[in-house]
Amino acid sequence: MKVTVLGCGSAYGVPLIGGDWGGCDPSNPKNRRTTPSILVEQGDTKFMVDCGPDFRVQAERHAIKVLDGILYTHPHADHIVGNFHLPMLMRYYDNKNLPLFADRATKKEIEKVWWFQNDPKIDVEYYGNGRPYWVEIIPNFPFMVGSLSVLPLLQYHGKMNSIGYRIGNFAYSTDLNDMPDQSWDQLKDLDVWIVESDSESPTKMHSHLEQTLEWIARLKPRKAYITHLDYTMDYDRISAKLPENVFLAYDGLEINL
Ligand SMILES: [Zn+2]
Repeated sequence: MKVTVLGCGSAYGVPLIGGDWGGCDPSNPKNRRTTPSILVEQGDTKFMVDCGPDFRVQAERHAIKVLDGILYTHPHADHIVGNFHLPMLMRYYDNKNLPLFADRATKKEIEKVWWFQNDPKIDVEYYGNGRPYWVEIIPNFPFMVGSLSVLPLLQYHGKMNSIGYRIGNFAYSTDLNDMPDQSWDQLKDLDVWIVESDSESPTKMHSHLEQTLEWIARLKPRKAYITHLDYTMDYDRISAKLPENVFLAYDGLEINL
């Protein structure tokens, strides 16, 4: 299985619009971060987790066209706004449909801001016959995407919930400040864990570096990569203080499992 980090930035990316690099060194390409998303591939199976505002650029960089699905973690804008581009992507699907995997709350929120999948007036000549469609997921109930089994795990993200995903000995946990014991129990014996730390400062919705490192020390994955990095998280400065099996993610990072 191959996991590609399409984007490791926090909601507004690095640099911020207008070119504000914050504490990040602009001369290091690993500090240039698009919005958070990963691509998972094994054999003929290929799917993304989340589809944020930078999806168009990420799809071009990584030749993303036909997918077996898009999985959503939660409905914050930096994880769903790329849906705007799905009508254009569907031109490559012929008659194939595209499953969108989300829990009920996320589906409901996405439907408030995004009309495409239910619009009866869609121009078939322009967009083709393929359509996105919803598949509702429930935490702790595994589901199949292509040939891969995926386990969704409940997370706490401030006052809302989000979903993490475990696929074999890999897991992706972004946008959380904690999770229930049942989810922690499902994250044992990982080869690779991608987990968030938005910054070094505690906030109500995200984890911060000290807490994330505690989680990693407790779960003991073979390797961990930290994602959802804001513009205070300079790659070299933060990397210098990480344990030897812990790394910062960067856009384009490929992890082979
Ligand atoms: Zn969020």
